[in-house]
Amino acid sequence: MVNPVASVTARIKSAARELGFAHAGIARAEALEPEGMRLLEWLRSGRHAGMAYMERDPRRRSDPREVLPGARSVISVSANYYTPQIHPEDAAIARISRYAWGDDYHDVLLPRLRALEERVKELVPDAETRGYVDTGPVMDKAWAVRAGIGWLGKHGNVITRDRGSWVFLATILTTAALEYDVPIADFCGSCTRCIDACPTAAIPEPYVVDANRCIPYLTIELKGDDIPGVEDMDFKSWIFGCDICQDVCPWNSFAVPSGETAFAPRPRSLDTRIEDVLVMGGEEFRERFRKSPVARTKHSGLRRNARILLRQRESHGST
Ligand code: SF4
Ligand code: SF4
Repeated sequence: MVNPVASVTARIKSAARELGFAHAGIARAEALEPEGMRLLEWLRSGRHAGMAYMERDPRRRSDPREVLPGARSVISVSANYYTPQIHPEDAAIARISRYAWGDDYHDVLLPRLRALEERVKELVPDAETRGYVDTGPVMDKAWAVRAGIGWLGKHGNVITRDRGSWVFLATILTTAALEYDVPIADFCGSCTRCIDACPTAAIPEPYVVDANRCIPYLTIELKGDDIPGVEDMDFKSWIFGCDICQDVCPWNSFAVPSGETAFAPRPRSLDTRIEDVLVMGGEEFRERFRKSPVARTKHSGLRRNARILLRQRESHGST
């Protein structure tokens, strides 16, 4: 006899694939331990830097039943955003993180996630769902690991065995009872390439990233006209985000190009000089980065980052 829960689970995973997701896995909705404890330790040690929103209600963040009462399952999906272009060698070029070369992934993935939620409700008519693309009170990475999509690398990103770490994650909490996947092993082994390659020593110990020193936090999340004290650091020409720890990861040699044209680099994503960003007008910024993740820094933020890169270049001549 066909197990109805297994059959519904298989159909949800198949719907996820049809919607373009690269992986789909399912975990039991329960309190995340020890992940929740690790989050608290990370917060206590101040490694979240100025991301005060992360301090809000960490208990809720680590227990999906606090977000969706009656939640039984967590569906985790990934979307491959790898494109074969490589970052420019020329230090005069402003480097933009790979995930931000194309369109904003929230805009691309949210309609698909909503469609997957609808599919869950069709298959389990009384089910409730809450879906999030990176923005909700859910620990997407921890759920992706529990759902067997990949393991948490020492650089803090989820690594999949067949596509590496160039994947976006999205999460659906649901009251539907589903079959659960088993987490896969951690395949980092004795490798320390990401830790060794980080130019700002932002990985003080394996699996711990210190946002105070991490270039994506400093160039994207941190607001303000200046970032005092960063002359001593070397951002290696990264003006928006940083891919160094993922670029050096051996598992990313398994990356396969995404078929998603929305994630392909927009013109000038890979050849804009730092000096050109400094003189870029507001209109050009809005035109180039409309519906791009780079819009998050705003015009003033990107120009601030350009000024910092030029100051770092003056300070130690390496960018
Ligand atoms: S993103 Fe860049 S700065 Fe942050 S840990 Fe990785 S290599 Fe270091
Ligand atoms: S570079 Fe090595 S240690 Fe770092 S995440 Fe990849 S496999 Fe793990």
